Amino acid sequence: MKKKIAIIGAGISGLSAAAYSAKEGNEVHVFEMNSSPGGRARQFKTGNGYTFDMGPSWYWMPDIIERFFNDFDYSAKDFYELVPLHPQFEMIFSDGRIAMPKDYDQLKDLFEKLEPGAAQKLDAFMKAARYKYQTGMLDFVQKPCHSWWEFVSPKIARSVVKLNLLTDFRTYVARYFKHPKLRALMEFPVIFLGASPKNIPALYSLMNYGGYALGTWYPMGGFYELVKAMQSIAEEYGAQFYFNQKAEQIIAEKERVTALIVNGTALKFDALIASSDYHHTETLLEKQYRNYTESYWQQRTFAPSCLVYYLGFNKTIPGLRHHTLFFENNLDEHIDSIYRFKQWPKKPLFYACCPSKTDNSVAPPHHENIFLLMPLATGIQDDTDIREKYLQEMLARLEKHTGMANLAASLDYKKSYCVSDFVNDYNAYGGNAYGLANVLSQTAVFKPSIRNKKLYNLYYTGQLTVPGPGVPPSIISGKIAAKEVHKLKLFHHEKAI
Ligand SMILES: Cc1cc2nc3c(=O)[nH]c(=O)nc-3n(C[C@H](O)[C@H](O)[C@H](O)COP(=O)(O)OP(=O)(O)OC[C@H]3O[C@@H](n4cnc5c(N)ncnc54)[C@H](O)[C@@H]3O)c2cc1C
Repeated sequence: MKKKIAIIGAGISGLSAAAYSAKEGNEVHVFEMNSSPGGRARQFKTGNGYTFDMGPSWYWMPDIIERFFNDFDYSAKDFYELVPLHPQFEMIFSDGRIAMPKDYDQLKDLFEKLEPGAAQKLDAFMKAARYKYQTGMLDFVQKPCHSWWEFVSPKIARSVVKLNLLTDFRTYVARYFKHPKLRALMEFPVIFLGASPKNIPALYSLMNYGGYALGTWYPMGGFYELVKAMQSIAEEYGAQFYFNQKAEQIIAEKERVTALIVNGTALKFDALIASSDYHHTETLLEKQYRNYTESYWQQRTFAPSCLVYYLGFNKTIPGLRHHTLFFENNLDEHIDSIYRFKQWPKKPLFYACCPSKTDNSVAPPHHENIFLLMPLATGIQDDTDIREKYLQEMLARLEKHTGMANLAASLDYKKSYCVSDFVNDYNAYGGNAYGLANVLSQTAVFKPSIRNKKLYNLYYTGQLTVPGPGVPPSIISGKIAAKEVHKLKLFHHEKAI
């Protein structure tokens, strides 16, 4: 039965939910409070020729993104050119650097050079990671996680040991590699999951496979090409998008949502999928209809927020790669500043993305487009002075690394983005950038539920519910929510259309 479905938010998960719901033949209306789609993956252009992706820059798990396109009889290449990065990235240490090769055989050579025997260990590590990727990303993450029963099957029972759910990632990596640089290299991918490798289950070595083995890619034109493609697919199936439209209240009666108040107007729908940050969505409901209390949210481990700088330079900066990780300082100290002390880090690590090294459409000729990102505790104070202080520190390290003097003098564009901007632009709880940390106690059924337990026609989607943070999981999350809503049976008198 055709349903009239409202979707709050046009980020990656909202776009995915819109496309899948519309393809099922439903009438889909997407309300986005910002003026453009993409959410955390938005893009902006400056008056002097730069194009900045605001969030995602690591295009990993290309097969998962490709599956989205295949579900609509397309391929990513119908919308943008995807190029592999070589090296995939460079990691800077206090006493040297490692460039991560694109080709696996070269990667093995690099490992062997640093630690005799490590090439063979890498094979074993990646074999296990591949198994987890296939079981995890192609099977587990497709589940709505209403209950553990979804995971009860002979196949899953056989695989439980191989998934290493109960071993922490750091211990797991240390079983394979001794060299500190190899350990740092192998630990890096799980930092995306928003917690220390000490607290992330070894299941997530699937990230090493989804990143290092499948490669690091770049969509020419920027990550926003994916957003545009997803919107155009949703629109092709009839989804309608409304920008500068803020969902202000969700009206419920008995056990169902009956209307959504958007910019002061009450609109009736058969079902609602909220891709806005979970905690914010709940505040749109009367307390009795919320899934969780305030103290539940206070007890969650959130993935970090971050300080981002979008910078334009009026000269090229030789010696800088597309992706560079500045890991000269101690990872655990930075992580402690985020989780234990909730302070600005004393000796930060940061990441620099320079897409103009690959794509000359994102900066004027002989200029450079650089995005700097430093992970931070959620909820901390982020005034202009403190942002500026950390910019100076990051520029100094860029200068040291590239041998360029006085980079600040070449800046012809500068904009910062931090905790308070995440709150204002996305209603993000504590200004979180990446949702909830993927620690074991917040995995699968332990994640905030994808369905409202009191209102049968309200579903949540996005990085705060299943399967978790990141672009590929958010795409999957939208698909799961759309499928669940499609299965809902409504009585005739409950229909809005
Ligand atoms: C700086 C940064 C770097 C990242 N890097 C990567 C990366 O390299 N690779 C990767 O895979 N992932 C990366 N991520 C994570 C990835 O971007 C997110 O996991 C994903 O985009 C989340 O999508 P979402 O749909 O859940 O949420 P969002 O993108 O936040 O979408 C939710 C939407 O809801 C809207 N909204 C909120 N409240 C309302 C309301 N009341 N009414 C109407 N609309 C509302 C918001 O404006 C927003 O557009 C990064 C994230 C950040 C912030």
